[in-house]
Amino acid sequence: MREGALANIAIVGAGVIGVSCAAFLQRDGHSVTIYDPLPPGKGCSFGNAGSIGPGSVVPLSTPGIVRQAVSWIADPDSPLWIDWRYLPRAMPWLAKFIAAGARPRIDGIAKALRLLHADSFRHYRTLLGVDAGSLLHVSGQLYLYESDAAFAKDALGRELRASLGIRSEVLGPDEIRELEPSLGPRFVKAIYLPDSGHCSNPHRLVATIAEDVARNGGRFVRASVKDFEQDAGQVRAVMTEAGRMPCDMVVIAAGAWSQRLAARLGLRIPLESLRGYHVMLPMPTPAPSRPLYPLASKIMMTPMEHGLRIAGTAEIAGLDAPMNERRAAALGRIAKRYFPGIAGEPISVWMGHRPATPDSLPVIGPSPRHRNVVLAFGHGQTGLIGGSTTGLLVSDLVATRKPTIDPYPYRANRF
Ligand SMILES: Cc1cc2nc3c(=O)[nH]c(=O)nc-3n(C[C@H](O)[C@H](O)[C@H](O)COP(=O)(O)OP(=O)(O)OC[C@H]3O[C@@H](n4cnc5c(N)ncnc54)[C@H](O)[C@@H]3O)c2cc1C
Repeated sequence: MREGALANIAIVGAGVIGVSCAAFLQRDGHSVTIYDPLPPGKGCSFGNAGSIGPGSVVPLSTPGIVRQAVSWIADPDSPLWIDWRYLPRAMPWLAKFIAAGARPRIDGIAKALRLLHADSFRHYRTLLGVDAGSLLHVSGQLYLYESDAAFAKDALGRELRASLGIRSEVLGPDEIRELEPSLGPRFVKAIYLPDSGHCSNPHRLVATIAEDVARNGGRFVRASVKDFEQDAGQVRAVMTEAGRMPCDMVVIAAGAWSQRLAARLGLRIPLESLRGYHVMLPMPTPAPSRPLYPLASKIMMTPMEHGLRIAGTAEIAGLDAPMNERRAAALGRIAKRYFPGIAGEPISVWMGHRPATPDSLPVIGPSPRHRNVVLAFGHGQTGLIGGSTTGLLVSDLVATRKPTIDPYPYRANRF
């Protein structure tokens, strides 16, 4: 073993964050064991929209979010839905979410998102090797507007992107049709982001990194972590369904379930599941070349290996409520409005839990109360984009070397 390498780092969660942490930690010579009751990439990382946008810097909460949310209440197909029975539990998180949307604050949040997202493709290429070619596509992205008024209303996004030097172009209807001929004629303007793109199979991306981790000696244990054995400010073992597993260090990367685990360590971190859906539709002809994002419905439509993925909606209903079939079906209906040529029923439907903090930034860094616990969760709607850099940053923090990006904005005690 390399000098300073740890013999057993326990990583809780085999989503895109957990496997990226594992792969970068292994590159420093550490031995890793990953705990998850599910196979790698079967949580939220399975069904996301595949968008990899180094220019995705606009947080979910922005000035005017309350007015916008109220306007959505009457629309059953709106991008947001709250289960009123769950509302009392979500209130403290919602209050922090609204506060995070105030103007001076979002400039700092956008900058921190930019830091985490800027080199996403580059770090995934390191992890994926030859498979990067078939999984990653710097295809550009189109943000689509149905009226000049809707375009004008989205000025904040353009302002934030411009302030961070993100390249973009404004396109008119003819240029939109030229780039994406299968779209119907609804859109009058678009923003083209040439440096953004997509992953054409987010599950295969996680599975590929996981296979590489296993090839390099990483162990995958199909068990849920229930608790931690703690002693003198350190975790000595993770307590799983399969028994007590000693460890030198723990990385908590359990996505939307991380709050429950952090609570076992005495940490109170505001994390809510923002439940989202996808439907897979038959690919239209000609197939779209890039992720398409109509701002009115806030759904992402991405060409994938197995069809056209329509992903979106944010539901606040907790981790345990069943899937709402009606909302999933709405995604397919909305997409057919944009692609007049799509025929046929959805191939599959899926729901996942986005692990969302109130300020749209993940928690990455040491536990404020433990010497050997690293937190890596809360990536919300951009965990695929942020996954590779998160893995690298976690490995920097464990190695106590100069980190690839400043970890301060992601500290656990900021709430
Ligand atoms: C509809 C939708 C569209 C999205 N689109 C995009 C997109 O285009 N681009 C983007 O960047 N992001 C997108 N996201 C967000 C992205 O998918 C998530 O941020 C990301 O997958 C989170 O990864 P994770 O590894 O933290 O969580 P997960 O993938 O959920 O992994 C966490 C793992 O922890 C395991 N676990 C939980 N509890 C325990 C325990 N006690 N013990 C052991 N294991 C445990 C779970 O089984 C799970 O496998 C989207 C999300 C949704 C829902």
